[in-house]
Amino acid sequence: MSDHTPRLLDALDAFEDGIYIVSEDFTVEYMNRFMKDLFGDGVGKKCHKVLLNYENPCDWCNYREIFEKNETRHSEIYLESAKKTFALSEIPVTNRDGTRSKLSIYRDITRRKEQAARLKFSEENYQRLFTHAGCGVFISSKQGRFLDVNPALLRILGYRDKEEFLALDLARDVYLTPGDRERYQRIIEKKGRVVDYELQWRRRDGHLIDILLTSHVRYGTHGEVLGYEGIVVDVTERKKSENKIREAYDFLDNIISCSPNAIMAMDMTGRIMLWNRGAENLFGLPADEVVDKMTVQQIYSREVAAEVTRMMRDTEYGGVGRLTSYPLTFERRDGVRLEGNLSASFLYDDSGKETATVALFVDLRERLKTERELAEARQHLLQSEKLAAMGRLTSQIAHELNNPLFGIMNTLELLKTEIPPSNKRRRLLDMSLSETVRLADMLKKMLSFSRPDETERAELDVNSVIDELMVLYDKRFRENSIKVKLDLTSDPGIIMASRDQLRQVFINLFSNAMYAMPDGGTLSITTRPNGNMVYIIVEDTGTGIKPEQLEKVFDSFFTTKTDSVKGVGLGLSVCYGFIQDHDGDITVESRYGEWTRFTIKLPLA
Ligand code: ADP
Repeated sequence: MSDHTPRLLDALDAFEDGIYIVSEDFTVEYMNRFMKDLFGDGVGKKCHKVLLNYENPCDWCNYREIFEKNETRHSEIYLESAKKTFALSEIPVTNRDGTRSKLSIYRDITRRKEQAARLKFSEENYQRLFTHAGCGVFISSKQGRFLDVNPALLRILGYRDKEEFLALDLARDVYLTPGDRERYQRIIEKKGRVVDYELQWRRRDGHLIDILLTSHVRYGTHGEVLGYEGIVVDVTERKKSENKIREAYDFLDNIISCSPNAIMAMDMTGRIMLWNRGAENLFGLPADEVVDKMTVQQIYSREVAAEVTRMMRDTEYGGVGRLTSYPLTFERRDGVRLEGNLSASFLYDDSGKETATVALFVDLRERLKTERELAEARQHLLQSEKLAAMGRLTSQIAHELNNPLFGIMNTLELLKTEIPPSNKRRRLLDMSLSETVRLADMLKKMLSFSRPDETERAELDVNSVIDELMVLYDKRFRENSIKVKLDLTSDPGIIMASRDQLRQVFINLFSNAMYAMPDGGTLSITTRPNGNMVYIIVEDTGTGIKPEQLEKVFDSFFTTKTDSVKGVGLGLSVCYGFIQDHDGDITVESRYGEWTRFTIKLPLA
């Protein structure tokens, strides 16, 4: 111990390392402060006893190499007693008296070890993240090579071999055009980073994919751009489904906006969220004045809106949450009355809560107008049929009265020759005669009532007259199980005719045909041009006409109908008269028990 000068030893106390010296028999000769602080003062004791409370030398002690081979040894040990890791240097020392000692320097490397372990841990974490990340991760050079990429990026771009991938020329092989990469570089170098930069990259198989690039610039020590690193997300599938959704949405949007009906949607407060073109036209309000600005209560009154909501919650009107074809009439802001059907239904969220209402309003003004006109026309027809029947009756009475009246008139005239004007009874006779003449005049007028005067003629086509009557007779034919076969020429030509008289002709023919088919049948109506004429053929599958009666049917008062109200035998004679007046012709053919066919020929104008 005397060899170690006290000054030197004091200096060793200031060391941050533990230093101690043992003799060849493991006796501690010196410990500096660091060692004493850790293990207590062990000078004079066996070193293994001091360090580990061992009876024998520590297993890691290199005393053999030190004392026998005179070699310096470096090792790393963990001392449980100090709970520290040390870098240990064991150095052989030869004392002046020839004895040998071992100088041990313990450097506490616990912190360093921990840091290294932590570093290793986090490096491993990053490596794991890099390797297993679902999105592509890359480091690239400014010049245009990938320096490192993770397996996900290889997968995204369809490469197996990383070496092949790292050899790619990015601008040429991956970007669509070199210009694309230059644009990306300009932007990223200006801002330092890009987030969700949309790009298309090319896969190994040539297919293009849509990607989102989030990356930043890697700078060198002098601020120069080394390259870039970041992540790549493949959004091809997402884009595809987005496109599909957009297409479906556009399709739906088109249907909604092109619908001639008014389609609207409102939230639960009534605020309008959707207003299609049909609604714009019908209500006379453009969407930009309505959507988000108006409520449905402003469109069809608060009361109507409340009533509609009430019915939608009821089960009566098409099920809960729905309202089907509810007739609605209300006044538009400009005073026009709207008539139509409203259908509506609630939209629900996932929890079943009502979130909005969709409504569809069908404008029925035109249809209702046509229906009203049709009903009026039917009424009109009924009236004219009644009138015609009355006319027939009147003419029957007139006809019946005509003969006896002429008999009376003749008798009175005869009597006149026998009673001279001087006779005072002659005045009575003259009076009777003049009254009889008045009666005959009246009868003549009554007869002309059943055969009205010629009405005004105009240019028309026979198809239009038939079409018009079809609408009116449609219901009656159906009620009488009569099937109608229409075969109207596309080129009926123009005739000069009285529409009223033609209508009367067809009405008579149809009435007769219906009468002849009490159990139903088929009525065929054909029009066809023939030279400078147009032919109209009306054929039924009814009772037919006996051959001996065939030439009588156009005669006035010829009828086979026993009920005088149903038939007085004037219908066809009137038809005949009208057609003749139009310089046309009407003929009849029939097979008794099977069919009857009337053919009308009219000259074209
Ligand atoms: P009425 O109205 O009294 O029947 P019409 O002049 O219309 O007078 O017809 C005269 C007669 O001609 C009818 O009573 C009927 O015997 C016959 N007739 C007319 N049309 C047909 C027909 N389509 N089928 C069978 N018989 C018919």
